[in-house]
Amino acid sequence: MSTSTMLWANSGDSHFIEPADLWSKELPKSLADLVPRSVKDEDGLWETVYVDGQSFRRRLPSSAAIEFGKGGSKAPGFSDFSKRLPDQDEEGVWAELVFPSLGMWAASFKTRELLKETARVTNDFSASEIIALSPRLLPTAQVSTLDVNDAIEEMQRCAGLGFKSVFLTVSPHPMQQDWQHEYWEPLWSAMEEAKMVIAFHIGTEPIDMAAGEVIGVTYRGPGGAVMNYTETTFSGQRAVMKMVASGALDRHPDLKVMVSEGGATWAPFLADRMEEGYRQHHMAVRPKLNRSPREIIYSQVYASFQHDPTAVAAVRYMGYNNAMWGSDYPHMEGTYGHTQKTLHELFDDVPQDVSERIRFGAFEELFPSAPKAPAEIRH
Ligand code: MN
Repeated sequence: MSTSTMLWANSGDSHFIEPADLWSKELPKSLADLVPRSVKDEDGLWETVYVDGQSFRRRLPSSAAIEFGKGGSKAPGFSDFSKRLPDQDEEGVWAELVFPSLGMWAASFKTRELLKETARVTNDFSASEIIALSPRLLPTAQVSTLDVNDAIEEMQRCAGLGFKSVFLTVSPHPMQQDWQHEYWEPLWSAMEEAKMVIAFHIGTEPIDMAAGEVIGVTYRGPGGAVMNYTETTFSGQRAVMKMVASGALDRHPDLKVMVSEGGATWAPFLADRMEEGYRQHHMAVRPKLNRSPREIIYSQVYASFQHDPTAVAAVRYMGYNNAMWGSDYPHMEGTYGHTQKTLHELFDDVPQDVSERIRFGAFEELFPSAPKAPAEIRH
């Protein structure tokens, strides 16, 4: 493959930013005052995020990427959807799964009505502004993570609006039971029935918010930055562990799970560990599964990565065929501004069938209704 050739890929991990007034203009004032909002420091390096009467501080990863990601220019399609496809055409991204930004804090909501209503408003916005724009853009639906009936009702409404997946936080708010519990079983049944994919995104744990707390800081001292970044990846693996060990995916073989931004090489490894536990602690294992953890993970769990060379090896040498590439547009962990360099480094020396599987095939299997990339850009 010549390095001058444009390499295209679908993306299992991209984002849009909600308009600042999205919820305040749609919701009654009592709820509008509680919706997520970000107030940036003057230096542009930190923000304070307010969610449902709580607040926390964090460094600004996304704005840094917007400001500095592409030779100092912004990623115009992040908030201006008319610029979205031109951005992706320039980068070489065909179809993409599009997650929210402020909506990623859904697990930190504790007011049931607020979560339900913000999800509804966001979904209507995504349907009219993103789904309507192009079938290449697949926004994730938002649903309640506090109440299973609210979640089912909105999920079904969204299926009718053309959504193909539902964004779920890696765990719900601690006041609700976690994903492995029977409480959520009706949602899994309903999602399987509606053919909606569960889309987990890493780094979406509920925030235990003391006012003004800085989040994303688990470790301090030497190595802290790398350790804190690496730490964020494990939450996606824990979400899959819950869905597999609890039997949720075993009971629903047509229910599929996506884990975005967390790499993909962990999937064969997690299968190894779960197989060992299932076999060697069999006397304590409940529930029993009809299929092995490896069979379940390899057939129902998909995972996106940005730069990981070993994710390609997981497909090529470990038989884990559900790794897919993702741009994480426009975040600084992603490839905006260097997508072509990344795709060439990952795939130039890889057999065509493996390359196509990771760049297109896994995504198309998970979202069969998404438009196929034309033959001339699949090479
Ligand atoms: Mn992402």
